[in-house]
Amino acid sequence: MSGPITKVGYIGLGTMGAGIAGNLVKAGLAVTVWNRTPAKSAGLAARGAAVAGSLEELGRSGCEAIFLNLSDGPAVHEVLLGPGGLAAHLARGTVVIDNSTIGPQEAQQIAAELRGRGIEFLDAPVSGGQAGAAQGTLSIMVGGDEAVFLRGLPLFQAIGKSITHLGPVGMGQACKACNQVAVGCNLLGVCEAAALAKKLGVDPAKLVEVLGGGGAASQQLKNYGAKIFAGDLKPGFAVKLMLKDLGIAQRAADEVALPLEGAALAEKYLRAVAEAGGAELGTQAMSRALEERGKFRFSG
Ligand code: NAP
Repeated sequence: MSGPITKVGYIGLGTMGAGIAGNLVKAGLAVTVWNRTPAKSAGLAARGAAVAGSLEELGRSGCEAIFLNLSDGPAVHEVLLGPGGLAAHLARGTVVIDNSTIGPQEAQQIAAELRGRGIEFLDAPVSGGQAGAAQGTLSIMVGGDEAVFLRGLPLFQAIGKSITHLGPVGMGQACKACNQVAVGCNLLGVCEAAALAKKLGVDPAKLVEVLGGGGAASQQLKNYGAKIFAGDLKPGFAVKLMLKDLGIAQRAADEVALPLEGAALAEKYLRAVAEAGGAELGTQAMSRALEERGKFRFSG
């Protein structure tokens, strides 16, 4: 381990990964990207990133750190440790940094398998959404060895504003699970407030403005308040991903015998939306569950 990291890889150029990888390029790092669906690499290539044709090519490209930003734990495991996976092609001492949201134990298992091959691992899930990823203002929650964290710190500073080392591998994901409980319950509150406002005839624009200026102000209200009233359910953060995250949180809570009833209700509403065909919609589609129960429509 020596000197600052100048050469990095990025795997997973979805809603979050594309923006984050772009900020690594912007920071002057030599960035090589790989995405399962190759067409999604074009935007990064236009911004100056090199594109690897395979995981093997990326693994052998001399990157000192390689980020991942994939849907879930099984995807991260498959890309790193599955047949033809990245790990087999990495030099010892390479740092793997996982920006995906996965379970704390999944992160620990992956880290242990990588450690056996001399590869370092940091779990580094993020919060702040697509806008935070694009603008480099993410909140990043890091778990892993402190010396490895300090080595990765300049990279985190290129993609986020709030960067916190929470302890050993898995603690970043543990913090992210807590984050998602707060987000889910907050979104539930925003949806219920919006539903009540609709039924009582409160002007939607004024409601969003007033609540945003007082004790009910929140990121969920700011991002989704107006969209809920407009019926704009396009995804920034998909229902299916939030269900994955609330599942992670519930399993963690079960292990410590803690009931999370608010998060369970948020999960129940999102599951109903998913089962009705809305798994790919944005999480603000939780509002549909309120529409069903209250027998009304926010728009149209
Ligand atoms: P997304 O747009 O659906 O992108 C998912 C990425 O994962 C795509 O690049 C996809 O490749 C890749 N992928 C999935 N399964 C794969 C597999 N088996 N092998 C290889 N690649 C695979 O998702 P996202 O919204 O960016 O979210 C990514 C992660 O960030 C998730 O863990 C999510 O929970 C977390 N997150 C999201 C947000 C948000 O606001 N969106 C905020 C914070 C955290 P293809 O292009 O080939 O499909």
